[in-house]
Amino acid sequence: MDRKERIKAILKGKNIIIFGPPGSGKGARSEELKDVCLVHVASGIALRTKVRDDPDSVLTHRALSFMKRGALVPDDIVVPIILEYLQKPQCIKNGYVLDGFPRTKTQCDILLSETNIDLVLYLVVPRDFLFFGVIGCNRLSCVSCGSGYSDFDPPKNAGVCDNCGGNLEKRVDDTAATIENRLKLYEEQTMSFFPDLEKKGIVKRLPITVKNEEEIEDKYLKKLGGEVYWIKDNGGKVRMLNKEGMKRRLYAVLEEYFQ
Ligand SMILES: [Zn+2]
Repeated sequence: MDRKERIKAILKGKNIIIFGPPGSGKGARSEELKDVCLVHVASGIALRTKVRDDPDSVLTHRALSFMKRGALVPDDIVVPIILEYLQKPQCIKNGYVLDGFPRTKTQCDILLSETNIDLVLYLVVPRDFLFFGVIGCNRLSCVSCGSGYSDFDPPKNAGVCDNCGGNLEKRVDDTAATIENRLKLYEEQTMSFFPDLEKKGIVKRLPITVKNEEEIEDKYLKKLGGEVYWIKDNGGKVRMLNKEGMKRRLYAVLEEYFQ
């Protein structure tokens, strides 16, 4: 059995939360887990599915009243919609990866009481990189399917989505001020419930950086302009993994955790 098949077998029916600050690569890691057969669940996906499949329900009408004016859908609407999505047969059979949920203590409490979470993967990313990773590298997203791209992970053809051929647009909310605000909010909210997850012993850390003394093949390190990308960390300068390197680390952590 090759490695990918082994990971598929290990993950079948498992429920995972991908957790980390804005700009830490939750979407990319979720796609890698989707690639090994977990269902990718984000609040946007659950909301759009509900609107499409159940257009006449009270929850749909309430959700739409917020979505239509671009406002954040409040907890009392979005939480039941996500929980309902998690009860779908494909989620129960294959397992799922929750991306960007829970965000608040209320959401976390409800999720832990209503579902069985096997693992929380915490993406550890130096703060310096979060700014560069969001504003310094031209983040783009697909208007049709929502896939994300940047200078680090560019599309094969400029302006065109690899996934679906849709148009790519610059993410309008990516400015230094909005990122600072998003990070502050994230840090406050996280402190209110992350310790609960840690106490359950289900949190595993997945750093995007490589310590200087750690031997890693050059091809697995992120390159920008032909140079290995270095970022500042508390401990000094560290190298950063590329997409392939992150995938290898992700698989290794999953194998170790679930064996
Ligand atoms: Zn697309």
